[in-house]
Amino acid sequence: MTFDVEKIRADFPALSLTVHGKPLVFLDSAASAQKPLCVLDALYRQYRTEYANVHRGMYELSEKATLNFEQARKKVQSFIHAASDKEIVFTRGATDSINLVAYTWGAANLTAGDEIILSQAEHHSNIVSWQILQQRIGFTIKVVPVDDSGDFVFDEYLKLLSDKTKLVAVAHVSNVLGTVFPVKDIIEAAHKAGAVVLLDGCQAATHLPLNMQDLDCDFYAFSGHKLYGPTGIGVLYGKKALLDAMPPFEGGGDMIKSVSFEKSVWAEPPARFEAGTPPIMQAIGLGHAIDYVQNIGMDNIDAYEHDLCRYLQEQVASVGGIRILGTSANKTAVVSFVTDFAHPQDIAMVLDQEGVAVRTGHHCAQPLHERFGVSVSVRASLGLYNTKEDIEKFAAALHKAKRFFS
Ligand code: PMP
Repeated sequence: MTFDVEKIRADFPALSLTVHGKPLVFLDSAASAQKPLCVLDALYRQYRTEYANVHRGMYELSEKATLNFEQARKKVQSFIHAASDKEIVFTRGATDSINLVAYTWGAANLTAGDEIILSQAEHHSNIVSWQILQQRIGFTIKVVPVDDSGDFVFDEYLKLLSDKTKLVAVAHVSNVLGTVFPVKDIIEAAHKAGAVVLLDGCQAATHLPLNMQDLDCDFYAFSGHKLYGPTGIGVLYGKKALLDAMPPFEGGGDMIKSVSFEKSVWAEPPARFEAGTPPIMQAIGLGHAIDYVQNIGMDNIDAYEHDLCRYLQEQVASVGGIRILGTSANKTAVVSFVTDFAHPQDIAMVLDQEGVAVRTGHHCAQPLHERFGVSVSVRASLGLYNTKEDIEKFAAALHKAKRFFS
């Protein structure tokens, strides 16, 4: 199909909002994306007509809800080309997915002499979760640098890899730089060293076609709310053999085969990792969001956003007095920058008055900001509904901010 952005925009009610009397220009989809009508309608419909708890009731409503919930799992499986729907664990979000791996696989497999490798561009969720475990176990965390363009320094990575490396946990796409890391090569090298790989796919699942079997990645984490789905739902993909060997994360209903005071027996994955009432409607909503992007086609979305990102970067640079963080040739959907004329927060305030929503701060990536010698930045990020016109309005607002503060 051809990419009809005006038709797509009509599917997102939030894009018709006005802010301070100006039409909303939404450039903060990396933080969380707006929702299409098909997701909103599905939630409304399901809550009204097919809502009950899942996996429990021997009655029609519960059976329908269970069917819809499990269909959502199959949709995720097909979306990321996992070998089986048993490899899809529903979580609360990417943060929860990474913590799950840390406290189950990590706690069971890492020991004091081991090393794990992260990158300098990680989101705090893929740093702090490991540090908390490190305090308990005492393994070493090694960090792969990014270069001045925001590219992963592969040679340094190869130097850090050794037979002590048990895990490589890196972003697929950086939420600040937009760099698409060379994950296939990263995984191949890690596997040669005998290490397991976790990819933080939070910023990739929205923009790039994914194929777990082709990547051969061991764990993959992402959030539903950035993929045009509801909040409160995330995905952890894990290779079946790894999930099968992992202890539970949390205890509760649904994650057991049997319980007695003498001994309880865990359920098979994915149920083993889904204690308690799961985010039923959120998972179903995510399934509808996946239908939506798959109808458009991830290849089409990738191509459209790739060109748009280049245009965004050009327009931002053309304002002058701007330093872009991350100028890799291989980047998508995110442009972060600092200016020589104002603090990021002041810029965001002027932009907000013009109806432009961007993010300012460290974007949960303090070590990365430190690497670039700044503490905070402005981040404009794209969704499939953004247009060249959005970018031109944003650039005009940036020019206005520059005039105002200069
Ligand atoms: N990793 C990356 C790269 C992210 O961009 C984010 C969200 N900002 C997260 C992890 C955490 O996602 P969530 O807050 O949805 O758990």
